[in-house]
Amino acid sequence: METNSLLCPNCELANVSNTLMSTYNRLPVTFSRGEGVWLEDQQGKRYLDALAGIAVCNLGHAHPRISETIAQQSQTLLHTSNIYNIACQSRLAEKLIAITALERVFFGNSGAEANECAIKIARMVGHQRGITSPKVVVMDGAFHGRTLATLSATANDNLKRGFGPLLDGFYRVPFNDPETLRALSDHRDIVAVMVEPIQGEGGIVVPNTGYLKALRTICDQNNWLLILDEIQTGVGRTGEWYAFQSEGVMPDVLTSAKGLGNGVPIGACMARGEAAKVLSPGSHGSTFGGNPFCCAVALTVLETMEQEQLLNKVKQTGGLFLNMLKEQLADSSGVKALRGRGLMIGIELDRPCGALVEHCLEAGLLINVTAGNTVRLLPPLIVDENDVAAIVDILVPQIRAFLAKQPQDSH
Ligand code: PLP
Repeated sequence: METNSLLCPNCELANVSNTLMSTYNRLPVTFSRGEGVWLEDQQGKRYLDALAGIAVCNLGHAHPRISETIAQQSQTLLHTSNIYNIACQSRLAEKLIAITALERVFFGNSGAEANECAIKIARMVGHQRGITSPKVVVMDGAFHGRTLATLSATANDNLKRGFGPLLDGFYRVPFNDPETLRALSDHRDIVAVMVEPIQGEGGIVVPNTGYLKALRTICDQNNWLLILDEIQTGVGRTGEWYAFQSEGVMPDVLTSAKGLGNGVPIGACMARGEAAKVLSPGSHGSTFGGNPFCCAVALTVLETMEQEQLLNKVKQTGGLFLNMLKEQLADSSGVKALRGRGLMIGIELDRPCGALVEHCLEAGLLINVTAGNTVRLLPPLIVDENDVAAIVDILVPQIRAFLAKQPQDSH
């Protein structure tokens, strides 16, 4: 990696600043560049990236094809408006439809916006069916975003504190428990069920095999829409384009963001059947959503994933990664569970382990801890066997040392 030649001098000087609203507790590091699975900080220290900006940079950092598309698009067209046709928006929609078999796409700029669109679609379907106060069933442990509607759909009360009144219109049931959902069948106001195929923020919670199928059946029996939030699981993360594709079910509405743009902000809400047709001119929109720049990049992301045959690689590398972790950690006291699919892996400890993030940072590895006690690994999908082995070589001793030093009851 070359250093500094391309850096903006102002960015070099910038540090954590009290001009920013303090929505994040930031780690003491500022990255100045990246290449593949590596990031480099302002002092030139290199870090192995096992987080990919939280499941975003699936093709790694500074991928030449992405850089080329960004350069080309910046010299031709960044933005027009959705009041005109946008050729690469249509091409991207066609590509997503070919991948998912859904029928229509709305583009926004983030995961939360994709989910907002899904919730609006569900409500509109409800009203068209004559339901005056339509409800969406959501899950314990769910995370769907930070806008008011998606925050209302999210489970974690800590994230909601101080933001009331939140939106009405949600019922909540336990995750991975189809029977509790089935018991709501007499509620005539329900119009949709919204669920993550694997809960990400909730702690990489993988439901039982057949769970999505059971939800699909219950939705069919009650004429409810099945909305899958694949913001974190989508775009190859689990080894399929979308996680539902390994379950033999079809959602009515599917949301995607994060890895779709590899760092360029884009979100998509896809739908089929009744759900694909309810929005009409003026009923929903976005200034930036689906602009030529973001769509050109997202198209390159999907094409590059195909060219590099990443889905198969993710299955292989992900399997290898989880096995290596199991071999080295499964018997360690303090490790409660190792789980995941593809390159979405969680290591649940028997105690809060947020401190591990900083320990690993010092050791040159980027990880995350979610749900308080679960190490979350979401590396770029381009990681190879050597990268995975290198991650394990840093992570495992850090976890062991942490468990040895931190008695369970010290927190
Ligand atoms: N849904 C899921 C499952 C997510 O993991 C996230 C983000 O972590 C979101 C929605 C919100 O996405 P965004 O932060 O892009 O609004």
